[in-house]
Amino acid sequence: MSHLLDRLNFFQSKELDQFSNGHGQTTCENRDWEDTYRNRWRHDKVVRSTHGVNCTGSCSWKIYVKSGIVTWETQQTDYPRTRPDLPNHEPRGCARGASYSWYLYSANRVKNPLIRGKLMKAWRKMRENLSPTAAWKALQEDPILRATYVKTRGKGGFVRANWDEATEIIAAANAYTAKTYGPDRVFGFSPIPAMSMVSYAAGSRYLSLLGGTVMSFYDWYCDLPPASPMTWGEQTDVPESADWYNSGFLLLWGSNVPQTRTPDAHFYTEARYRGTKSAVICPDYSEAAKFGDIWLAPKQGTDSALAMAMGHVILREFHLDRQTEYFEDYCRKYSDFPMLVRLEEKDGKLIPGRFLRADDLRGKLGEKNNPEWKTVAWDSKANGPCAPNGSVGYRWGEDGEWNLEERAKGADTMLQMSNILEGDHDDIVGVDFPYFGGEATENFVKCEHPDVLTKNIPVKRIKTDKGEVIVATVFDLFCANYGLDRGLGGDWVATDYAEDIPYTPAWAEKITGVSADKIETVAREFARNAEKTNGKSMIILGAGLNHWYHMDMNYRGIINMLVMCGCVGQSGGGWSHYVGQEKLRPQTGWQPLAFALDWMRPPRHMNSTSAWYAHTDQWRYEQLATDEILSPTAPEGDWDASLIDYNIRAERMGWLLSLIHISEPTRPY
Ligand code: SF4
Repeated sequence: MSHLLDRLNFFQSKELDQFSNGHGQTTCENRDWEDTYRNRWRHDKVVRSTHGVNCTGSCSWKIYVKSGIVTWETQQTDYPRTRPDLPNHEPRGCARGASYSWYLYSANRVKNPLIRGKLMKAWRKMRENLSPTAAWKALQEDPILRATYVKTRGKGGFVRANWDEATEIIAAANAYTAKTYGPDRVFGFSPIPAMSMVSYAAGSRYLSLLGGTVMSFYDWYCDLPPASPMTWGEQTDVPESADWYNSGFLLLWGSNVPQTRTPDAHFYTEARYRGTKSAVICPDYSEAAKFGDIWLAPKQGTDSALAMAMGHVILREFHLDRQTEYFEDYCRKYSDFPMLVRLEEKDGKLIPGRFLRADDLRGKLGEKNNPEWKTVAWDSKANGPCAPNGSVGYRWGEDGEWNLEERAKGADTMLQMSNILEGDHDDIVGVDFPYFGGEATENFVKCEHPDVLTKNIPVKRIKTDKGEVIVATVFDLFCANYGLDRGLGGDWVATDYAEDIPYTPAWAEKITGVSADKIETVAREFARNAEKTNGKSMIILGAGLNHWYHMDMNYRGIINMLVMCGCVGQSGGGWSHYVGQEKLRPQTGWQPLAFALDWMRPPRHMNSTSAWYAHTDQWRYEQLATDEILSPTAPEGDWDASLIDYNIRAERMGWLLSLIHISEPTRPY
C-alpha cells in the first residue's frame, strides 16, 4: 500500500496485539518513513575539528561526514584534565558552533573569487597576447584603460572568476609593484591566526619572502586593549578561563560570559557553587547579570568614572585609613608606587613630569650600565635614593638584576611608598592635575569643575648635577589624583564619600547613574576578599568596555584597582580580558614559518591603523585638531601640528614600526 493510503488508514489500522495491561499496542504498519531520520544521521566517518571563526573557544567537535559532506556534529568529550582540583573543561561548545555546518553549505557563502567586471574584461584582453606580468604592466601604464576599473571602485560590479585567474592577477600585480616601486609597497593582511594558524602563516610567509609588509590585526579592529601595552609594555596576558574557579570574588565588567564565552561559562557557574562572590556590571540585565550577587547598571561608556570611584574607596579604606599589610607589601615590590617623579614647572605652577632616573643624580647612584633607564625610589633602610632592580635599564647589559626582588646594588631595600610622614618630606606643594569630566558630549552627564585641579603633595628636594629637583612618589601623586584628603590641606580632596569632588562615589553617581552606596559596597567587598585571599579577586572584562573612544581610561581605572589590591599575577586574581583569540600555543615553532625567519629577518611588520591612516590618505580628511584632545597640563611643546605629524614623529624616533622605506611617492589613486 502507498504511504499516502497508509496515512489515510492510520486511525483504522488493525490492532494486532497489546502489552502492559493494554497501555501499549503493537500495530503492523509500513515504517519506511523512519529511514528519513536514519539517513539524516548516517555517516562514513567521524573527524575532529573546531570552528575557525576568530572564536576564542576553540572547542573540539566530532564531525560526522558522509560522501565528503558534513552531516552533523557533536561535542567531543575527551579533554584532558587540567588539574585534579579544577572542574573538567567539558562540555565545551555553543549554539553557533552546533549549527556551523549550516554556514558551510549556505547559499550566501562566497565560494568563488569575485573580480570587478571592468578589470576582468581589460585583463582578459591583455592576456590574449601578453604574459601575466607584461599584461599587468600594460594595463597599469595605460591611464585610460586603468581608469576604467579604478574609477568604478566602490560601485560594485563584481563577477565570478576562477581561482587560476585570480591568483595570476594578484601575482602579476605584486611582481609589477615590487619591481616598479619596491617590495615594501606590497601590504598584506592575512586571515588572522585565530581563524587558522596555517592560513595566516601562508599569507604572512608569502609577504615576508616577497619583502612585503605584514600588517597587524589584533589592534586594528580594537580587540587589543591599549591600556595593556601602556601599563605593562606587552599585548594582553590573562589567565585561561579555568582560573575563574580559583577566584574568591569575580567582577564581570562589560563581559556577557554566557553569551560571548559560552564554552567557558560553566566555570563561572561552578565557581558560584564553590562559593565565589560575584558582582556584574553592565547596563542591561544580561544573561550574566542573573549570576551576580549584585548588579550595577552604569550608563553606557561611563565605566572609567565608576572604576575611579571604586579606586577612591579602596585607597581610603585599605591604604590610608588602614594600611593593609598584603597590599602594601605587594605594591612596594611589584608596582611603581614607590618610584620618584620629578615635578616640573609650567606657567609658574608644578605638574608631574618624568621619573627621576639614576643618571639625574650625582655619581649616577654607582650605575654604569644604562643609568638613564633606571628609575629611582627612596630606600628607607639606607635612608637615601636607590635604583631598585627590575627597571628597564637592567634588562640589557647585565645579568641577574632583571627581577622585582627588593634589592639594589646587591643590598636589601625597603622602598618608601609615601612621603606623608613629617620627617619624610621637605615641603608640601601644590601640583596641577587635569580634569576631563567637566565636559561631556550629548547623552553623557558632565560634572562641572575646573579643567585643572591643584592638590597638595608631600615632596622631597633632591640635589642633582643640574640643580635641585622636587620629587614626589607615584603613590602620593596617585592618592591626590583620586581626590583623597590626607590632612595636607588644599582643595579638591575629600574625606567624605558624599562630597562632590572628583572621584568620590557621590561624584561618580551623577555620571554613571549607579548609586554611591552600591559603588562603595562592591569596591569594599572586592578589596576585602583580596586582602583575605592574597589577591584572589578577579575582573573579567571584554568588548563592552573596549570598543569606546578613550577606552584605555576604562581599563586603566580597572587595572589600578587590581594593582592596589595585589591581584595581578595571582592565580584566581587579576584581569581577564577576552576579546578575540590571544594564545598561540606553538608560537615558538610557528613564527619562523609564518614570518619566513628561516630566510630573512627581521620581518617587516606595521600596525594597520597607521598604515591605513598614512598610506590611504585618510589623514587628509582628519577633522580632529590636536588641541581638542590635549591635556590642560600638557608640558610645553609643539602641540599645534596635525595628528599625522605626531604619528610620523613617533616613527622617526623609533617608537613605532613603519614602512614604506623607499622615498618615491605612491601613485595617486
Ligand atoms: S565557542 Fe562555539 S563557535 Fe567557538 S569553537 Fe566553541 S562551539 Fe565553535
